[in-house]
Amino acid sequence: MNDCGFNTLLLHGTDDMNPFGATQVPIYQSSAFRHESSENLEKVFANKTMGFSYSRINNPTVDAFEKRITKLEGGIASVACSSGMAALFNAFMNILQSGDEIVSATGLYGGTVELFEDLKAFGITTRFVKENTPAAYEEQITEKTRLIFAETIGNPKLDVTDIAAVAEIAHSNGLPFVVDNTTATPYLIKVLSLGADVVVNSSSKYINGNSDAISGILTYGGKFKWDVERYPGLAPYKKFGPMAYIAKLRNGLFRNTGACLSPQNAFLNNVGLETLGLRMDRQCANALELAQFLDGLNKDITVNYPGLEDNPYHELAKKQFNDHYGAIVTIRAGSKERAFEIMDALTIPYILSNIGDTKTLVIHPASTISIHQTPEQQRQQGVYDDMIRISVGIEDIGDLKRDFQQAIEGKRD
Ligand SMILES: *Cc1c(COP(=O)(O)O)cnc(C)c1O
Repeated sequence: MNDCGFNTLLLHGTDDMNPFGATQVPIYQSSAFRHESSENLEKVFANKTMGFSYSRINNPTVDAFEKRITKLEGGIASVACSSGMAALFNAFMNILQSGDEIVSATGLYGGTVELFEDLKAFGITTRFVKENTPAAYEEQITEKTRLIFAETIGNPKLDVTDIAAVAEIAHSNGLPFVVDNTTATPYLIKVLSLGADVVVNSSSKYINGNSDAISGILTYGGKFKWDVERYPGLAPYKKFGPMAYIAKLRNGLFRNTGACLSPQNAFLNNVGLETLGLRMDRQCANALELAQFLDGLNKDITVNYPGLEDNPYHELAKKQFNDHYGAIVTIRAGSKERAFEIMDALTIPYILSNIGDTKTLVIHPASTISIHQTPEQQRQQGVYDDMIRISVGIEDIGDLKRDFQQAIEGKRD
């Protein structure tokens, strides 16, 4: 099965043996799991045998979701969390301590920028790169740096990170590279195979696909050599070999912060995940066609999309993403008033704060998701007062084009 294509792997990649021949993994809606003997439960707690004990630690439905993502991302193990933010927090704090520094990309999801602010209270500071080039990451590394972080396609800046090149810089400085792959998904790129060490997905978005559950998941590649002098928290877990990072997380911070995913939401993700490849093909194709259409429509509207040939990230995106460019497009309308006018005139897209739905979504980031950032931070994140972010869905593209045209040109049909 391992040499199968992505879609076959999605459907048949994990050999679940479900009760009664069920084709979906059941929702194991149980807080705890009984054992036939005290000795057996002792072994489960001591990690001496596989088994489930308590759903804050693990659960069979959640485990099935983790195994699927591990397979798709090409890692050795995953930990599913209650949200993308919980997954990011756990991915970072599993290895950081007071005094450490993060070197990060700038074109980030607003929530992650705010999380980095929160980490200051724990003595962890973040140095942001000036531009998304490999050399810019190296410039920010100091002797206190303990990890490098980037988004594959920055949300909403849509800058594209050169994953292999940044991974090389990270490793030559003895640092792990953590990548948020939410906007690209494992369908567009396998960041672990290009050298990233931990990949985080907000599975609330494309992985779930239908926007019916909040969740996040992190996957470890199994290759980073942890120097326990720089990462002292990992010392007691050395005995787990390549699984040290995951073992520490599941036996420590993840369990103790109660960041677990509910079995119900894991079930919704398992079902949604089956169509990830189909949806990404359609959504990326729709996004490209819409971006090209808007680009040619009206000179007052400027379009940002890595799929456009004059985009500064076009060549890199083409190389990394196998002829896909993601399904988020941003446009600048000239003023905030004009942006609001266009959004309010659209009839198909929903105005809401989310990406990765089957339905097309629009938002004005400056007044919503990026509201807590300073104007300077907003500019660095590629957020402008006249910008609309479009998360392109699976609708018929002719309808989307017509709707955007009437909203922009003010002609309703
Ligand atoms: C949405 C998002 C997150 C946060 O995920 P939640 O599931 O909403 O907590 C993190 N990173 C990116 C790129 C996102 O789009």
